[in-house]
Amino acid sequence: MKKVDGHIHTPFCPHGSMDSFHEYIERAIALDYSQLTFTEHAPLPRGFVDTTPDQDSGMAEDDVPLYFDTLEELKETYKQRITILSGLEVDYIEGFENETADFLNRWGERLDDSILSVHFLHYKNKWACLDFSPDVFKKMIGLYDSADEIYRHYYRTVLKSIEADLGPFKPKRIGHITLVKKFQKLYPASTPFSKEIKAILEAAASSGYELDYNGAGVIKPHCGESYPPEEVIEHARKLGIKTVYGSDAHSAAGIGQGRHAMRL
Ligand SMILES: [Zn+2]
Ligand SMILES: [Zn+2]
Repeated sequence: MKKVDGHIHTPFCPHGSMDSFHEYIERAIALDYSQLTFTEHAPLPRGFVDTTPDQDSGMAEDDVPLYFDTLEELKETYKQRITILSGLEVDYIEGFENETADFLNRWGERLDDSILSVHFLHYKNKWACLDFSPDVFKKMIGLYDSADEIYRHYYRTVLKSIEADLGPFKPKRIGHITLVKKFQKLYPASTPFSKEIKAILEAAASSGYELDYNGAGVIKPHCGESYPPEEVIEHARKLGIKTVYGSDAHSAAGIGQGRHAMRL
């Protein structure tokens, strides 16, 4: 079976490593991959202010042409050894659907493959990046009054991302649909939110989306499972949803992360 990684960051990531594309690709070839999608964090929509301390969640839009040009060169350089696809991980930011569609309309022709992810939540008039750090998550609990309320709001927002109209270049794959569990060992929810997750899977199935089966959570000390976990993946597959492994590597060493604990 073809070994694929559909979610990889790059030296264009403002919060990742400076490992070169060649290091990522050589590591993937050594691990017997036949196809990679590089999915750098797209620039955040115009008008949205990044709440992370260094405002480094997405790449600058000025870098986008060079990013795609670099990927075109790499496709050519490596075409005998591995297939490389040009992608982006696009944020779904509630209320910025038009700006996100505008971005996708500007650049979508250059995309082979892409992911739509929720990292930012809007609540009580404040924005927060839910996977940034345990400290930020703890502050969010103060604002939301409970971890459960963050989970509920997160799943609601993921569902909205699936339903959103982002135009013809909207990504076909939904990113790490249980990312809210990144700090679950520190801040667990009181219920598994099965009903909410089921609604997400049904919406994804009926609209033909794929799921990012993301290995990063496996190695996160406060998470310890893939995004989403195995039982959700099994349910998704029963509904006919395609699941695509994503390392979510932010360094070359991260290629392949989590796979040992996943059902691929
Ligand atoms: Zn990142
Ligand atoms: Zn992500």
